[in-house]
Amino acid sequence: MSKTVHLVGAGPGDIELMTVKSLRLIREADVIIFDRLANPLILKEAPQGCEFIDVGKTDGKHPVKQPEINEIIYQSSLKYENVVRLKGGDPFVFGRGGEEALYLRERGVGFDIIPGITSAISVPAYAGIPVTQRGVVSSFRVITGHEAPGKAVSQIDWDSFATDETLVFLMGLNNLGRISSNLIKIGKRKDYPCAVISKGTTENQKVVIGTLETIEEKAKGLETPALIIVGEVVNLRDELRWFD
Ligand code: SAH
Repeated sequence: MSKTVHLVGAGPGDIELMTVKSLRLIREADVIIFDRLANPLILKEAPQGCEFIDVGKTDGKHPVKQPEINEIIYQSSLKYENVVRLKGGDPFVFGRGGEEALYLRERGVGFDIIPGITSAISVPAYAGIPVTQRGVVSSFRVITGHEAPGKAVSQIDWDSFATDETLVFLMGLNNLGRISSNLIKIGKRKDYPCAVISKGTTENQKVVIGTLETIEEKAKGLETPALIIVGEVVNLRDELRWFD
């Protein structure tokens, strides 16, 4: 039985954006429980005989439900010495890593958290968009854009977005129209800069630049995973674009 389950952040896509520590743990793993978000090339680093369990989570949708994932991780800890739970980006940024850790804790299984480079910052960076910029904006906020439409009470406090902070929405592609129109409703300019970045940090990265008014139309056809970034910093891409 393993003493410690490693909850490992895989980074945003570019395999070289993994941490040294995460790579070491993968090279020692007996089992890797992974999501679609983690770059599959990472699994090639695992040792011979390592078991792979695909829990298939993509983009906020969970073919394997979270309670079941928790149980799979726990059962693996009973069976194997080196258990790696591999998650896209950072395990604690909308990764439900906290829930998995709590589940293990309740069962007396130790865990550690290996932070990863979150898509929220690195994907904009690969698009040439800094989330903060001296003289432009001094804070940024990361928000889930995945809320069931028609939910009676939104957990998102839209009024609180009437600031100039950079806003980064994860899991929001399908709600893009709602997000941009809500931001206009609370008083943001219709021509406020906005970008959608799909498959960031990978060779399939696509970046669409628009305004709150035009972005929904312009981003049609983009594929997940994708994030939305709203703020004056988006304009810096003109000069800072480097990767694509
Ligand atoms: N824990 C992850 C986020 C999980 S939520 C992290 O820290 O990055 C999943 C969302 O992350 C996706 O819906 C998308 O909005 C964003 N995302 C993850 N990888 C991405 C990528 N390569 N390009 C664009 N968005 C990405």
